[in-house]
Amino acid sequence: MSANGASAIDWNQLPCPVNVVDAQGRELQANRLWLDLGQRAESLFTDGARQLLLQALAQRHDFVLDLACRASLAPTGLTWLFVRARWDAGLAAFVCLWQDISAVKIAQRQVVEQAAQLRLVADNVPALLALYDAVERRCLFANREYARSFGFTELSILGHTLAEIIGAAANTLIEPQVERMLRERVTVTYERQLQGAAESAATRWIEVSLMPHVDADGQLLASFVLITDISERRRDELAVRESEARLGKFMHATVEGILFHQGGLITDVNPPLCALVGCSLSEAIGQGALSFVCDDERDKVTAVMSSGRELTYETAINHRDGTRIPVEFIVRNVDHQSSQSGSGLGQGQRMAIVRDIRDRLAAQARIHHLAHHDELTGLLNRAAFMAQLQQTLQDAGRAGRQMALLFIDLDNFKRVNDSLGHLEGDRVLSTVADRITDCLRSTDLVARFGGDEFVVLLRDVPTRADVMVVLMALLSVVEVPVNAHGCALSVTPSIGVALFPEHGETAQALIQHADTAMYQAKAVGRATFQFFEPVLAEQAYADLLLESQLTQALERQEFVLHFQPQVAARSGELIGVEALLRWQHPQRGLLSPDAFLAVAERHRLMLSLSEWVLRAAARQARVWHDSGAAVVPIAVNLARIQFRLDGFADIVACVLAEEGVPGEWLELELTERLLMDEIVSVPATLAALRCLGLTVAVDDFGTGYTALAHLTRLPLDKLKIARSFIARLPDDAGAAAITRAIIQMAGGLGLQVCAVGVGHTAQCKQLVDWGCDVLQGDVIGPAMPAAVFESWLMQRPGNWPAGDDESTSTSSRNRC
Ligand code: C2E
Ligand code: CA
Repeated sequence: MSANGASAIDWNQLPCPVNVVDAQGRELQANRLWLDLGQRAESLFTDGARQLLLQALAQRHDFVLDLACRASLAPTGLTWLFVRARWDAGLAAFVCLWQDISAVKIAQRQVVEQAAQLRLVADNVPALLALYDAVERRCLFANREYARSFGFTELSILGHTLAEIIGAAANTLIEPQVERMLRERVTVTYERQLQGAAESAATRWIEVSLMPHVDADGQLLASFVLITDISERRRDELAVRESEARLGKFMHATVEGILFHQGGLITDVNPPLCALVGCSLSEAIGQGALSFVCDDERDKVTAVMSSGRELTYETAINHRDGTRIPVEFIVRNVDHQSSQSGSGLGQGQRMAIVRDIRDRLAAQARIHHLAHHDELTGLLNRAAFMAQLQQTLQDAGRAGRQMALLFIDLDNFKRVNDSLGHLEGDRVLSTVADRITDCLRSTDLVARFGGDEFVVLLRDVPTRADVMVVLMALLSVVEVPVNAHGCALSVTPSIGVALFPEHGETAQALIQHADTAMYQAKAVGRATFQFFEPVLAEQAYADLLLESQLTQALERQEFVLHFQPQVAARSGELIGVEALLRWQHPQRGLLSPDAFLAVAERHRLMLSLSEWVLRAAARQARVWHDSGAAVVPIAVNLARIQFRLDGFADIVACVLAEEGVPGEWLELELTERLLMDEIVSVPATLAALRCLGLTVAVDDFGTGYTALAHLTRLPLDKLKIARSFIARLPDDAGAAAITRAIIQMAGGLGLQVCAVGVGHTAQCKQLVDWGCDVLQGDVIGPAMPAAVFESWLMQRPGNWPAGDDESTSTSSRNRC
């Protein structure tokens, strides 16, 4: 086998490749197995390995080496050879035993690679890992994070004890956990709070798991330490806890009910919700989310729940006692998923704020009611009535039904207010409203249009007779006395009626015509009813025209005063004149008051007109006085509206002052009816007027049934007997009796008495005989324009028809 054949051993019998090389690497001898490798050393090893080998040989000492083979040999499976070389000084060569360690090397490399991978993994897991031996608790392994977090490197930490690594204090702290893990051989997990070094550093939380490593024989070899940073989890948990605590506070603090539900079941409710539905917390939880919802609302609520939408809507729930409670649901998704999953009945948790809206609905209903009803009587107001009337007319028109619209105005209601006060007046109004309502069918409409005006719509009245039945009933129920301040007070209605469709087909026309008819009812004596008649409408139109002309007449100075003399009955001496208003109408000529005063009064033009009269009379008195004509008072007729003015006496004083006229130059005439109607304000106003020097006469006396007692209390100067009595003299016994009685009574009260409308001498004579003081009438002189009156005065005959006694001689003072 050997090159020189000197060996006694058959090297070919050896189980491994063997060769002999000198210190320079020259091969001296080799066995077959070596030769089987079929390679020379030069081509067998990598350059590096060959270099290594030559260096070792050059040392001439025993050595061992792992030598990497050339890559070209890899297909044969040979990658590494191990050599054990022994220097034989005798041979001056190495005997080398070779071993193919390719497989071992591969295995070794895999182990190293695995270890590196393990390290890679260990260093990259988001946790701190370490392995300690079970006895001395020295560190056998630590990943980079673990080592660094205790100030070591992966290598420098090895061999240190647990106490050295984590510090004595921490070691003492965790000792019980370590003890337990070692003793019981179970994984022990605990949490620790770590305060960062810097003060500002946030507190960190870690979770530590100690895991025993036991071999197959149950021998405890080591313990793993796994540390994870749970600060974030802790913070999240804390946030959740805080949020829950906050929610809990809200749940208890709010007065509104709150309900959580998930998967169709209630998961939580707050005390107000329990109170709202009348059940306890434990009863509520676990119930179906729809269990409190009213049956008829379930479909709606289910649809909202299924939609998963967040919205606010109104619905109704039941209290345990069966009470239906209108509520508002404010629905929100508690977690994000549910809003995306789109299924409120599904997994997502939803929250509903349940707001009791009974008060709100009641307030809304009240606002609605107030907007449509009269506050005092609870009847419909004008706007609501008109809207309903409009609708009803359309329906009735289509159905061919007849209806009646009643305009009701209470007679002299102002007197109730003035004498008993507004509170009592209101009470009377609501009593009347109730009575009107009671006498109608529930389908009829009733409204208060304001003040003492009521309007009624009788929906289905086929004939006039049907309407009459209701009208009669209304008249009789309304005038039943009302108990006010302990005395029975009766108010009567005047009712105007317009029929649909006969008198009008629109709401406006019907109202207008019923109103016109109502005025007619007033005109014919009040406490009655009147159906609309077209002729009334014409009258109303004429009134309207007159009204517009009246408004302009004052500006255009179309009014004039005429003056009618008043003389002493016995002497014929001129003792006064009455100023009587006339309208010089541009088309109709001279109009007397009857033609326009009523319209002026109705449309509130009377105030300015009356002030004009007062001023014109004062001015005329001044003119006559300055011209040296008769100095007699001029009587001015007062309108009711003037007395209703606060400070009417002040206005008179002002006019007198402005015209430079003393009060004594004017006399005021007010009717008996005015005295009674304005019973409250009259005494004080009269007193104030008399303080100014004016005298006061009661006009039209005898027609108004003035209570005598009342008359005696008033500061009056004169009674003027109504023209209607004088006109019937001397033949009408009744008129004569009344006239005489008035004259006597006036004498008894110390008042002057004047007869108005004395038309012929027979009347004159009779009146003088009965003791009448003053005469006024055509027989003495008609109402005349100022200039005519002045001529009349100039031409007045000296003899006086009343008689031949000395008292008939007229004073030169009053005769021009
Ligand atoms: P009165 O206050 O009763 O006035 C008397 C009325 O009788 C006047 O009618 C007068 O012209 C008329 N008269 C007087 N003697 C006779 C007579 O012998 N025969 C006839 N046939 N008539 C006579 P006149 O002027 O038409 O006034 C009517 C009413 O109009 C007045 O009745 C008065 O109530 C009212 N009136 C007139 N002027 C004014 C005024 O300035 N203001 C107010 N508020 N009312 C006035
Ligand atoms: Ca008069």
